Amino acid sequence: MSLLDGFEEFVGRGTLDELRLLGARLKDRKIVTVNSTAVGGGVAEILNRLIPLSRELGVDIRWDVIKGGEDFFAVTKRIHNALHGKAETFTAHDGEVFRETTRRNVAEMDLDADVLFIHDPQPVGLIEARKAGRGRWVWRCHIDVAAPQQDVWQFLDGYVSRYDASVFSAPSFSRDLSLPQVMITPSIDPLSDKNRELSEGEIAAVFDRLKIPRDKPIVTQVSRFDRLKDPVGVVVAFRLAKKYNDCRLVLAGGGATDDPEGSEVLRAVHEAADGDPDIHVIELPPTANLEINAIQRGSTVILQKSLKEGFGLTVSEALWKAKPVIAGAVGGIPLQVTHRYSGILTHTIEGTAFWIKQLLNAPDFARRLGENGREHVRTNFLLARHLREYLLLFLFLEHRDERVIRLDAMAPDRASL
Ligand code: UDP
Repeated sequence: MSLLDGFEEFVGRGTLDELRLLGARLKDRKIVTVNSTAVGGGVAEILNRLIPLSRELGVDIRWDVIKGGEDFFAVTKRIHNALHGKAETFTAHDGEVFRETTRRNVAEMDLDADVLFIHDPQPVGLIEARKAGRGRWVWRCHIDVAAPQQDVWQFLDGYVSRYDASVFSAPSFSRDLSLPQVMITPSIDPLSDKNRELSEGEIAAVFDRLKIPRDKPIVTQVSRFDRLKDPVGVVVAFRLAKKYNDCRLVLAGGGATDDPEGSEVLRAVHEAADGDPDIHVIELPPTANLEINAIQRGSTVILQKSLKEGFGLTVSEALWKAKPVIAGAVGGIPLQVTHRYSGILTHTIEGTAFWIKQLLNAPDFARRLGENGREHVRTNFLLARHLREYLLLFLFLEHRDERVIRLDAMAPDRASL
């Protein structure tokens, strides 16, 4: 069965027919997408699934990763934090490190394409490769830049303002820009190892392998070990809840090659856990999709206690498994969770602890939250919808100078225009 056919039961035949039509309109275009890591984090997760699906439609998207040294990724991590509003120093030398790495990548990459789709701040400078007249450039921003540190934003805007369009995950992420902004939410792939149905045997085998007993309710957060995911806050909330309800905590995650802070945060988590046998800190390799799937499915409650967040794919992943989710009301999370309907939104450690206790004590309510959440994800956050919106955007950019844009099957194709 093709990947596309596998989506029919979730999104219906009409959506697939439409995707095929859009794909046919973009055949033979050269589309290049660039981000900053092949593994770890939501962007890599999506590209790994989106590209095979688009290939099935005849749309060949080539994926490249920007290369940089430790100094470059230390600078871009600070840029990332500063865009999220954390005070960071950004020196002239930092700017030079960024420009130099950009120059090297521009020299090495093939950036001569019909569409250049560039993710987040790290590769934003590739716009330097823009040739007059050729190719449309899209900056796909996955993070919330509504209230950034000004000097850092001004530095980036020197690049961003030269793009043809930008894409944000939520209206609240964007800012006043001189270029068009398109809102497209990310997505999960229900057919991937991370999200497909698993048998009880498969789930049990993973828990056995990871040595997590299933003797009591399990509260879980799956995330990179990043301060903004607040894993230490999760440990504190768990301890508060555990005074009332006996349970286990699983904190599962790995690193990303573009995130130099992971090991420091992991150390802080171990310190906070302090050898508690009910706290399981599981370090996962980037290939651990089946493990994450099983951990999520085998959990009673899922947390995503982020302090700042992009979209927060892990929330949709958990909701897709019909799990009750307690998540920070930040970034794209409120798009996925409507409080007390498709999950719980919290703002504090105490609030998180309160709701862990509530959901453990009210399994019917918890089940309803999960069921509503799954339906919300089915209609809004699956890969087929996401790809459809990207293809529409590419077509729009290609034809943007025309007064009437026709996407129907009878429309003349580009060759005959
Ligand atoms: N993820 C993973 N391994 C880990 C931690 C996270 O595969 O050790 C995945 C997670 O399942 C999700 C993505 O990485 O698909 C994280 O995306 P999200 O938007 O939640 O956060 P980001 O890491 O991009 O800030």
